[in-house]
Amino acid sequence: MNFKGLPETVSLFLCYKIMQEKLRIAIQTKGRLNEGSVRLMEEAGIHLIFGSRNLVSPAKNFPLEVLYLRDDDIPQTVAYGAADIGVVGENEVLEKKEPVEIIKRLGFSKCRLSLAIPQQIEYPGPQWFQGKKIATSYPGILNDWLAKHQVKAEIHVINGSVEISPGIGLADAIFDIVSSGSTLVTNRLKEVEVAVTSEAVMIRNQNLSAGKQAILEELIFRLESVQRAEGKKYILLNAPDDKIAEISSFLPGMKSPTVMPLAEKGWSSVHSVIDENDFWEVIGKLKKAGAEGILVIPIEKMIF
Ligand code: ATP
Ligand code: MG
Repeated sequence: MNFKGLPETVSLFLCYKIMQEKLRIAIQTKGRLNEGSVRLMEEAGIHLIFGSRNLVSPAKNFPLEVLYLRDDDIPQTVAYGAADIGVVGENEVLEKKEPVEIIKRLGFSKCRLSLAIPQQIEYPGPQWFQGKKIATSYPGILNDWLAKHQVKAEIHVINGSVEISPGIGLADAIFDIVSSGSTLVTNRLKEVEVAVTSEAVMIRNQNLSAGKQAILEELIFRLESVQRAEGKKYILLNAPDDKIAEISSFLPGMKSPTVMPLAEKGWSSVHSVIDENDFWEVIGKLKKAGAEGILVIPIEKMIF
């Protein structure tokens, strides 16, 4: 950690103060968010001392402490400041309506919250739900959707196994998490409306101390360095000197390609970064332009 523009002694003092503080992050104990949340810590180079059998685990090498919780409790825990940040599904944030701020979308545990009805029913539009009984674990988001479409329906709140409700006569329809849709098919239901889409997000408490804020910035910096490297490859190749201008035009890199002379006169080594999506197209162009000995290497982190 460094503090730009501050004298070294002041910077050291601030570091010392910050190291006494710990950022507390709430993650899911077990379930669909746990693996992604733990992987996030690992990617940031943070090693946790205890697993989720404990309620709390300090980190070995970073001023951070993990609190293992049920996902339903994470928004409130962060809003009240018992945890400073948390990793949770956006659906829980929208449902609980706690005053927390989403600071980062994390790209895993992607799903949607949808309305589904029995397969044999022809669906004419949102008005179909007028006066119907809908089973859900997400009454808040469902209420918002019904209000938006000016539909009055009866909401039946149940926790777990929502999808069996129509089959056993407990409800006319359901409002639940859908990912592949296979659970709906098994229960002879069809998805007719998507209310919201969701993915894992990082949330924060609105009043963090300056020390905790600095630790959070360092954590985000590390995560972004890893995310930036995803889908990127490091490429090295040899090229005749008179082809370097053409070859460089296919390799934008982080700034511009690095070009270094080889021991063999008239040849250079060219290094750059390319996007995995453009990979084969770029390789084709490079070969055509006279590149030889092309090496492609994975990148772990990218720091600007
Ligand atoms: P807990 O015991 O912590 O309360 P839970 O049973 O409520 O867990 P999980 O099933 O582990 O929750 O799901 C956690 C989150 O993962 C959901 O809130 C949602 O954001 C996301 N999720 C749920 N189902 C899927 C799915 N099929 N595919 C992708 N993401 C999902
Ligand atoms: Mg839950």
